Amino acid sequence: MNEAEKIPVVVNGAAGKMGREAIKAVSQAEDMVLVGAVDRNPSLQGLDAGEVAGIGPVEAPILNDLQSVLVLATQAPLQGVMVDFTHPDSVYENTRSAIAYGVRPVVGTTGLTPKQIGELAEFAEKASVGCLIAPNFAIGVLLLQQAAIQAARYFDHVEIIELHHNQKADAPSGTALKTAEMLAELGKTYNPPQVKETETLPGARGGSAPENIPVHSVRLPGLLAHQEVLFGAPGQVYTLRHDATDRACYMPGVLLGIRRVTQLRSLVYGLEKLL
Ligand code: NAD
Repeated sequence: MNEAEKIPVVVNGAAGKMGREAIKAVSQAEDMVLVGAVDRNPSLQGLDAGEVAGIGPVEAPILNDLQSVLVLATQAPLQGVMVDFTHPDSVYENTRSAIAYGVRPVVGTTGLTPKQIGELAEFAEKASVGCLIAPNFAIGVLLLQQAAIQAARYFDHVEIIELHHNQKADAPSGTALKTAEMLAELGKTYNPPQVKETETLPGARGGSAPENIPVHSVRLPGLLAHQEVLFGAPGQVYTLRHDATDRACYMPGVLLGIRRVTQLRSLVYGLEKLL
């Protein structure tokens, strides 16, 4: 493929666990060119992002200056894309900056509030810049969510358990919240009370997502990313479970998101909308 036809991509959070996977995936994709790598980790400044990711040099030094790297993604003939796997404390500003530069954000970082997502949607719409926010890029999770929507038509009782490694900063996971929102959008309220419940240990019944769906978060070393959706009815429990056992599972979804966001002019929340 001609270099000028390739999608220029910046990876923000390039030295992190997901960022390194993204550096590998983008560098190996024939229709993309990695034009920049950003990370605030002070000990890795100036190192080649490919070396840090373990694939050898890719001629993209890790820099802690998102604005100047975004400029690199605006210089190619095609509009660029910024992949963000950073931290809940900076993802909102990162996404705003990318949109302001006309660089399309593909956001995997979780922790954005519904209000922030609404503001970003407005900003993207006004700027006519495509933006994808995907709490989960694993195709298996998207299939689990579709199966949960089917099941919710027949079950009135549901709870969600999400289990992650203990380095995860936000709880519950963006994926668990998204799953709950998808079930809530079906227009029913779940878990009609059967008894008057008392929590002798506050929080024991989990956080309450929209339409009364309890979400429970587990954080332990040894886990990666796992989600269970449990539907109950008299005499039966229907359990849907997804296990991410390697971060490589997210990359087909990330590459799909990069390709599809270039065709958007507004914000899309959830990769399932682009499948
Ligand atoms: P990590 O801590 O391994 O990596 C984050 C990296 O971002 C670090 O290298 C850190 O130095 C860098 N960083 C943080 N703030 C920054 C900033 N303002 N500017 C530049 N660099 C910055 O974390 P991780 O496991 O890679 O996860 C990153 C995010 O991705 C988390 O929010 C996590 O929940 C999310 N995640 C999403 C998916 C998905 O499919 N959407 C899958 C897994 C993880």
